[in-house]
Amino acid sequence: MKIHEYQAKEILRKFNVAIPKGKVAFSADEALHAAEEIGGELWVVKAQIHAGGRGKGGGVKVAGSLEEVKSLAAQMLGMTLVTHQTGPEGRVVKRLLIEQGVNIEKEFYVGITLDRAISKNVVMVSTQGGVEIEKIAAESPEKIIKETIEPELGLQPFQAKKLAFALGLNGIQHKNAVKFLMGLYNAYSESDCSLAEINPLVITKEGNVIALDAKMNFDDNALFRHPDIERYRDLYEEDPLEIEASKYNLNYIKLDGNVGCMVNGAGLAMATMDIIKLAGGEPANFLDVGGGASKETVANGFKIILSDPNVKAILINIFGGIVRCDRVAQGVIDATSKIKVNIPVVVRLEGTNAEEAGVLLKGSGLNFQVASSLKDAAVKVTAVLRT
Ligand code: ADP
Ligand code: MG
Repeated sequence: MKIHEYQAKEILRKFNVAIPKGKVAFSADEALHAAEEIGGELWVVKAQIHAGGRGKGGGVKVAGSLEEVKSLAAQMLGMTLVTHQTGPEGRVVKRLLIEQGVNIEKEFYVGITLDRAISKNVVMVSTQGGVEIEKIAAESPEKIIKETIEPELGLQPFQAKKLAFALGLNGIQHKNAVKFLMGLYNAYSESDCSLAEINPLVITKEGNVIALDAKMNFDDNALFRHPDIERYRDLYEEDPLEIEASKYNLNYIKLDGNVGCMVNGAGLAMATMDIIKLAGGEPANFLDVGGGASKETVANGFKIILSDPNVKAILINIFGGIVRCDRVAQGVIDATSKIKVNIPVVVRLEGTNAEEAGVLLKGSGLNFQVASSLKDAAVKVTAVLRT
């Protein structure tokens, strides 16, 4: 799950990680009141969407007066913000973070995430902050300094000190950076994050070390331990089809292709997408309907897949292990006689009672193509698209 910058900063504050003074606002008037409350002479108006690159796209603006805060807020709310992370369609801005303007001396990068190759968390820092870290990683990876975290020990003070020295910090700045890193690691670990990224981390003219931006992603499987974080979920920022699917307990992820996939089991679903690509097609989604694949599940799966206008054909790939293939076939027949499916459907059922299932599908009078193997299914479904 992803959350907004202002929400991530609320979490960081609880872990004593330094952040600027700030307040969320949903209207221009609220933005004005927030700025009054924050005080000072310089404010920053920041669009809150689940995507980065807002600065370049016009979603982060500095205001030198209260009137300017209000007028910038009025402009930004309701605008469609396009950044390199939103895709060309952009996102409509519905919330703002009004923040104290910070006197920046240097901008750094700090990120914590899980390195899947070594099954350990890593803390990364770079002096090349404020810009796209993906670019730095690709072009000059030596500019990213990493410390691997032993899970039973957590981030050790000597590691935090090493990282702070790697950023070229001394004296009070070094001390503050160590405190910052220890606090950030705590926040990451205690909140079951999959990513905590501060870009930029800034050193102020006064020697403070502050998170100017904050991105936190969470492990969905651990969210039940954090009802307070779960409440941060902003459904507006998520794909409507994925939300709909989660209501039916379906694991659905929308992709850009045109072959809709309905599969039982995540591993088989991945393999199905691979083989569609191998046959020259493009999957429109990942969909794991779970082990059961009942009539209701299949019907709900069809509904979700067909809501995507890009889908031009459907491939159903079910392995009957615990579930019997003839039951699944009956489920598919019942579901398609209820829901109008106007596009070609290729079905591949393998496992217990697969033969009976084939007979049922062929005798149903409905327009199914029955495939004999996974490869045959992929070839059939991509061939249908070419005609
Ligand atoms: P994004 O990564 O989406 O572009 P950031 O929060 O990183 O958004 O903001 C972009 C840039 O705006 C920062 O690199 C920083 O230079 C400036 N900025 C952001 N917040 C503040 C602030 N509170 N005070 C001063 N400058 C800021
Ligand atoms: Mg940023």
